Amino acid sequence: MESPARQLHRHATVRVEVGAVSVGGGAPIVVQSMTNTDTADVAATVAQVRALADAGSELVRMTVNTDAAAAAVAPIRDALAAQGCTVPLIGDFHYNGHKLLRAHPDCAEALAKYRINPGNVGRGSRRDPQFAELIEAACRHGKPVRIGVNWGSLDQELLARLMDANSALPEPRSAQLVMREALVRSCLDSATRAMELGLASERIILSAKVSSVQDLIAVYTELAARTRHPLHLGLTEAGLGSKGIVASSAALAVLLQQGIGDTIRISLTPEPEGDRRREVIVAQELLQTMGLRNFTPLVTACPGCGRTTSTFFQSLAQSIQAHLRERMPEWRRTRLGVEGLAVAVMGCVVNGPGESKQANIGISLPGTGERPVAPVYEDGVKTVTLKGERIAEEFQQLVEQYVERSYPRRASP
Ligand code: SF4
Repeated sequence: MESPARQLHRHATVRVEVGAVSVGGGAPIVVQSMTNTDTADVAATVAQVRALADAGSELVRMTVNTDAAAAAVAPIRDALAAQGCTVPLIGDFHYNGHKLLRAHPDCAEALAKYRINPGNVGRGSRRDPQFAELIEAACRHGKPVRIGVNWGSLDQELLARLMDANSALPEPRSAQLVMREALVRSCLDSATRAMELGLASERIILSAKVSSVQDLIAVYTELAARTRHPLHLGLTEAGLGSKGIVASSAALAVLLQQGIGDTIRISLTPEPEGDRRREVIVAQELLQTMGLRNFTPLVTACPGCGRTTSTFFQSLAQSIQAHLRERMPEWRRTRLGVEGLAVAVMGCVVNGPGESKQANIGISLPGTGERPVAPVYEDGVKTVTLKGERIAEEFQQLVEQYVERSYPRRASP
């Protein structure tokens, strides 16, 4: 059960169905991600799609760049279905998408959406017919498309035209403003062209990704003012680690707060051997901390200070969050509303009891010099005081019991 916190006015009135997932038209904001396996490697791609979907990715995109990759798409879809994983798959096409969709109808059919980059469909006289062939494939197979413009592969002919027109103005605008307009125009003109070719308006999602926070906000604000198609939000090439997370969150939060954005992807550069699911978790946490959707119970924890010299509360907060996330795939199937559970793990008496009372279940650990006891609060009431060596295990059990008691079982499918 979706438990929306805040209903913001949303710009996109058009709703697009991507497989069984609705995007835009007031539907909940959808989290999506992208694989980084070689799509031709069926086993590796199935495993990663499965991991991303289990982490909560509601759509998963994959590169379809070669005949081998295109030939692998239907087997990937079949293998996922055999495992009970029905997450819609999106094909990411550049340069040769028209040929691949023509040569591999089983791939065209297995995908739930095609991503088309108008800057990469072909140059010169080949551009229009190749774009038309992609759109015709979408029409033939009844699939939606995302017209996904990216400033790194912006249609250079369009940009040159706009730059020339700009320099002829009595007071030319800055190159940055012209570039922003080129991104918006590439999106909107391509959507118009796709509809002229027969693609229904309800089959078009738009995106115009850039890597600068201010450019992204400006471009999407403009797009939202000029279209009612759903918008896919993401800061492209956001970067590594905390920089990528901060930049993506800063840009997306400003837009989401204005009701702009219907599906999001956080494009983090993975660290070597890093976990690809991180981009899904960050996207979920962004939406959840903004009060836009609930996905997984979140732990509120204090930062700690000189009042607590041990790191016990930090490891307890971490282990409880990991436990909640681990339990969520099962709870999502079996428990109604558990994704909205709020847990607090606090370091001392100063803010501990107050914050714990605000949570559904919270524990206030003893700070330095305090009595070594940890009161637990459930729905604002102190229910038990834990002490001794097994506080972590006992608190985990209390959380399990709280879930058992407070969130009704879903009816069996
Ligand atoms: S709750 Fe206590 S330990 Fe945690 S930051 Fe506040 S004063 Fe410090």
